[in-house]
Amino acid sequence: MNPYWLEGLKPETAPLAGDHRADVVVIGAGLCGASAALSLAEAGLAPVWLERGFVSVGASGRNAGFVLQGTAERYSRAIAVMGHDRARRVHGWSRENHAAMAEAVTRFGIDCAYQKRGSLQLACSTEEEGELLESAARLAEDGFPATVLGGEDLPACYRDAGFRLGVHLPDDGELHPAQFVRGLSRAARSAGATLHEATSVSRIDAQGAGDVTVHTSGPAGAGSVRASLVVVCTNAYAGGILPFFADKVDPVRGQMLATAPAPALFGCPVYADHGYDYWRQDEHGRVVLGGWRNLDPSAEVGTDEVLHDGIQSRMVEFLHRFAALRDVPVTHRWSGTMGFSRDGLPICGPVPGAPGVVAAVGFTGHGFGFAFLAGKAMAELVTEGRSDFADAFPSRRFGI
Ligand SMILES: Cc1cc2nc3c(=O)[nH]c(=O)nc-3n(C[C@H](O)[C@H](O)[C@H](O)COP(=O)(O)OP(=O)(O)OC[C@H]3O[C@@H](n4cnc5c(N)ncnc54)[C@H](O)[C@@H]3O)c2cc1C
Repeated sequence: MNPYWLEGLKPETAPLAGDHRADVVVIGAGLCGASAALSLAEAGLAPVWLERGFVSVGASGRNAGFVLQGTAERYSRAIAVMGHDRARRVHGWSRENHAAMAEAVTRFGIDCAYQKRGSLQLACSTEEEGELLESAARLAEDGFPATVLGGEDLPACYRDAGFRLGVHLPDDGELHPAQFVRGLSRAARSAGATLHEATSVSRIDAQGAGDVTVHTSGPAGAGSVRASLVVVCTNAYAGGILPFFADKVDPVRGQMLATAPAPALFGCPVYADHGYDYWRQDEHGRVVLGGWRNLDPSAEVGTDEVLHDGIQSRMVEFLHRFAALRDVPVTHRWSGTMGFSRDGLPICGPVPGAPGVVAAVGFTGHGFGFAFLAGKAMAELVTEGRSDFADAFPSRRFGI
C-alpha cells in the first residue's frame, strides 16, 4: 500500500498533550477541515485543529485529484432524482467550489499542478450513450458548457480502446490533491490555526451550546480541548464520534493505482461506466487510475484501507486496452475511504443532538467538488451563525 500522493509524508506538528481551552476546535485535516481552519483563522479566530494522522492522509490525499462539477450522478439523472431547480443549484455550488479552489491556488501560491483542461465522460454501453447525450443537452440548456464527441471527434486512443461516444466538460480541473490540501494547511497555520497531528478524537461531550469538550488520545497521552464550538470534518469517519451520522454516512472503499511515467495519451481527466472508472495523467505522465468498485460493491465497504486484488487486476487489464501503456509498470497501489451519504449529497450544519457542534460530511466520492466551500460554510456558521451553502445541504432533511 503506497499512495502516490502521500509518499514521504508524516506528521509535522506536535500531538496534543494535556487540557486546553479554545474558541473553536476543528476535527479532521482533509480538504474540508483545512478549508474550515483557514477561513476561521482568516476571520480572526485561533482554532485548535486536530488530526489523527497527518494533513491529507484521508480521502483527500488518496483520490484521483479530479475537480469535477456536479454530484456522482450524471446531470440528467440528478434532475430526475432532485428536481430541476435543486439539481441546477447543486451543480452551481460545485462550479463555485472549483472557482474558489482555483482562487486559493493563486492567492496562496500553492504548487499543486492545478490545470483546467476539462473532463471527459465516456460511455461504456448504448444505454450510457443515451444517458450522456441527454445529460449534455440538459447541461447546455442550463448554461453549463458540454460538447458531445462522437465518431472522428473522439480522440483516437479512446476509439482504439473500444469507446464510441464521450462528452467533454471544458470547465473541470485537476490537481495534486495532497499538495493542495497541505498548501491550505500552511496558509491556515500562518493565519493563526494551531494544528496537532497524530491526535485522535475519541469523544465529544456537548454539554450545551457554548460548552463542548473534545477528548483525545495519541502518543503524548490523553488530552482535551474545551471550546464554545466544534467543527467536525471527518467525512467517512463521522459516525465514529457523532452517533447522528452512524446511519447517514457510510464508509465506502475506492481502489487506486499509479503507473511509471508514460507517453502522453490522455488530455484531461476521464470517467467512464457511470463514473465507476476514472483516470488521468499527471504532469509527470503517470497514469493515475481508480474505481471499478461495482465489481464487488459488498466487499468495498468499511474504513480499512486494504487492496482488493481482483479489482486491482481488472484495473491493470483495462490499462492494457491502451497499446501505449502495455509495457508501463504500475508503481503504486492504494485504497481510500469515501463517505457516502444516503442521498448522495453533502450534509452540512448543526448536528442534531450535539449542541455546539457543526459538521460537513458525506461528500459521496465528489468531495473536491464541494468540500472547500463546505469548510468555508462551517466557518460562516461559527462566525455569523448562518451560511447559504449549509442551508442548501441541511442535516434536518433526514429527520431528527
Ligand atoms: C479512491 C478515491 C478517489 C476519489 N476521487 C475523487 C476525485 O477525483 N474527485 C473528487 O471530488 N473526490 C474524489 N474522492 C472523494 C474525495 O477524496 C473526498 O470526498 C474528500 O477528500 C473528502 O474530504 P474530507 O476533508 O471531508 O475528508 P478526508 O480527506 O477523509 O479527511 C478527514 C480527516 O479526518 C481525520 N479523522 C477521522 N476521524 C478522526 C478522529 N476521530 N480524530 C481526528 N481526526 C480524524 C482523518 O484522518 C482524515 O484526515 C475520492 C475518494 C477516494 C477514496
